[in-house]
Amino acid sequence: MKDFFLKDKPAVSIRGIHLDLKGLPPTPSRLLEILDLLNAARINCVLVEWEDVYPWRKYPELKNQTAYSLAIVRKFLKKAHDLGIEVIPLVQSFGHLENVLSKKRFKHLREIPDNVSDLCPLKNGSRQPILDMIKDVLLTHENIRYFHIGGDEVWSLGSCEKCKDFVEKHGKAALYLYHIEPILEFVGSQGIRPIVWDDMMRKWDIPELKKIGKITDLMCWSYAKDPFSFISQQTIEKFIKAGCTIWAASAFKGADGAYVDIPDFQNRIINMLEWVKYAKKMKLKGVIATGWSRYNTFMNPCESLESSLDTLVLSGKIAWDGEIPDNPSVWVNNFLSHCQKNGIRTDHFQNCRSASEQLQFWFNSAFNRVKNYLQQAHITGEEDRINPFRTKEARKAVLESLKNVNKFAKEWEKAHKNLVPHLWIKKYALSRIEPVRKIVQCVIKQPEF
Ligand SMILES: [Zn+2]
Repeated sequence: MKDFFLKDKPAVSIRGIHLDLKGLPPTPSRLLEILDLLNAARINCVLVEWEDVYPWRKYPELKNQTAYSLAIVRKFLKKAHDLGIEVIPLVQSFGHLENVLSKKRFKHLREIPDNVSDLCPLKNGSRQPILDMIKDVLLTHENIRYFHIGGDEVWSLGSCEKCKDFVEKHGKAALYLYHIEPILEFVGSQGIRPIVWDDMMRKWDIPELKKIGKITDLMCWSYAKDPFSFISQQTIEKFIKAGCTIWAASAFKGADGAYVDIPDFQNRIINMLEWVKYAKKMKLKGVIATGWSRYNTFMNPCESLESSLDTLVLSGKIAWDGEIPDNPSVWVNNFLSHCQKNGIRTDHFQNCRSASEQLQFWFNSAFNRVKNYLQQAHITGEEDRINPFRTKEARKAVLESLKNVNKFAKEWEKAHKNLVPHLWIKKYALSRIEPVRKIVQCVIKQPEF
């Protein structure tokens, strides 16, 4: 693989990928195979968001139908270790707790009764399940250096009566710290450095940042083409001034729309490059390219890992060389074929990618064509303004899109066979077919749909 990388030394020492397993989790054998591809792309760290695929012991209701066995998790960890890939587990601790707070046992711990995302920090025993989950993960993840406890997007923080009172007296940052500090201290007491997402801290003042910076690293995330249009460099430099150790998070997929099937190639590689340049300049701890599988647990899945292998391997290349290759598409093709020749399976990528592209095209066209059909004046009440020819054509176009969504969803299923469990392949296809089928049924009023 030497010829594929230009530099003798990497631009960034910790070059990571985020495996978000809460959507389209790889089959057990594919989960193990992926590590070979990461290794070939010189990725030496993997941030694993196990969520509902972890073999939870104390709270088995957190497992989904295809959760991995303990043996697979152990094999994955051992193989990563043997390849020199550092594993950082991620367990959410405050917001994005949909998988936990939707379960009967934990429902009473929500900040707002009908919001399944956020935990109330002041409810009796609300921290306990988080500590239990962390302990459960620690039982399999031996000798780890870092543990990510999420902590992002706690949008409803300070909403319940008790929390409102607390915030009035002490401020929002104090409430956040009240909940998170003991968790960070527990992780620290295990000889492990915790990491949290940075977004809840962006408006904090230096004294509060100093407090949190002592007990955790911060991971600054921004997935925009220009990352600093979303998080300013001044904010990151404020964190550094307060003594915080900073990681950067780019995105190789899952950041171009909640409902897309392929990543935006240019956005992804430029986002990665900008972070790598900044990480090198500011001596950040590492850069992790996130790969979101759903925008949250209760949303439909976004683009698959297998349709995003190009931006995945390029993230490794950019983090190593500190630059984008002259012709990134050619580099990707050559690199993936070279992997395939060396026994690292990548030959399904083109099929996954092209089915995803077609699916996305026809999905979007269906909604555009429905809009076009609805623009016929007689549909909205002007019965005398009817051109039957145009109406018929517009209707035909809508039906053509529906037909192609069905067709390419099937292609997508075929391309992902044995890479993702059958159940999740089917659900992905349905997540694309059903919205189109429903809108067509509603607008065109065809009973046969
Ligand atoms: Zn509360």
